[in-house]
Amino acid sequence: MRCEIIAIGSELLLGAIVDTNSPHIAGRLHTIGLELLYTSAVGDHEARIADSIRLAMSRSEVVITTGGLGPTVDDMTREAVARATGRALIFDEALLGQIEQRFLRWGRTMTENNRRQAFRPEGSAVIENPVGTAPSFIVDTGRSVVISLPGVPREMEYLLDSAVLPYLRRRFSLTGIIKSRTLHVSGLGESVVDQQVGDLEKLENPTVGLNAHSGVVDIRITARADSEAEADRLNAEVERAAREKLGDAVFGADADTLEGVTLARLAGRGEQVAVVEIGTLGRLSGRLAQADNGRGTFRGGQTKPALDPGADAQTLARDAAEQFGAACGLACVVRAQNNTVEVSVGLWRAGKAGRWARGFGGHPGLAPEWAANMALDALRKALAG
Ligand code: ATP
Repeated sequence: MRCEIIAIGSELLLGAIVDTNSPHIAGRLHTIGLELLYTSAVGDHEARIADSIRLAMSRSEVVITTGGLGPTVDDMTREAVARATGRALIFDEALLGQIEQRFLRWGRTMTENNRRQAFRPEGSAVIENPVGTAPSFIVDTGRSVVISLPGVPREMEYLLDSAVLPYLRRRFSLTGIIKSRTLHVSGLGESVVDQQVGDLEKLENPTVGLNAHSGVVDIRITARADSEAEADRLNAEVERAAREKLGDAVFGADADTLEGVTLARLAGRGEQVAVVEIGTLGRLSGRLAQADNGRGTFRGGQTKPALDPGADAQTLARDAAEQFGAACGLACVVRAQNNTVEVSVGLWRAGKAGRWARGFGGHPGLAPEWAANMALDALRKALAG
């Protein structure tokens, strides 16, 4: 079954907002085994939106639009879908009643322009929107279905999961599911990981693919199966094989982050960390503060403009631990010199010091993230066992 997503809104074309809805919808479609062929964006222009929908319908069975369902005159998805599918736009009293009820429940007065949202293409099926005002609808032409969802991400995500995916499963008799599990690896480059798990990458079900970030490599394992339990079982088998080959280099899976996992290890031992950074734009402290969320395992961080003469990363780490009263001190220093970027990491823990230095060959703009990952990985491994 072929699908397309059309993101609607001039803000997207002006670069004022980033389209995060399309990737989200793409990921969800994938889980029910639908093949996404195209995504596109179009401004608030009725004829152009209608053209995009017509083109999408000419080559895909499922067309999903997001945005442009609001009450204002620049919200034109209703009109454009009616135009593209050759239907009249009808006023739906029942839909108006639902919108009015919602305003009553919220204790707000409905304005006249909200009446616009009670129009829908003739013959469409309404998807009620309990989390917002923009009702969604589905037009089934027999050959294609056009599904129009709101632009507000929270509303769109809710309607997608609660109504659209179940509808698509029924409409196209989809039984299988596709489910992914992503392992995160740190401290090894992509080519090393590739060498280790190369045989797994040749599998057909689950498939295995690598995705490299700055200092972290993701291994994505994706199974196709008749049930979620079967997909989990297939993924777990490959996960076990990958973990056997990579050992402690695998620091987590799915939503785990390197900072989150490292803080959890510290907390498990009743230890805390303080950091000092040079040339990293405060990336290490920022990530630790966010993951710690005030629990106190991250004691604090300091950014410095440059390394003092005679100081090194280990001394900085010790000073940070002492200054913030933490069991561990972590220092991360990025120095750009003569077209090369040098990263050094210092660790102070229980009176013992460690130091690591490496050259960074990637784009200098990526060095802070890479260095923060290198520092977190050093601390995580020191806490192993
Ligand atoms: P509502 O009536 O609830 O506003 P709508 O369908 O009219 O729904 P839009 O007016 O198109 O939605 O967009 C509302 C807001 O939703 C935008 O200002 C933007 O913040 C967010 N939004 C819209 N489209 C996208 C998108 N593709 N990706 C991420 N955010 C989006």
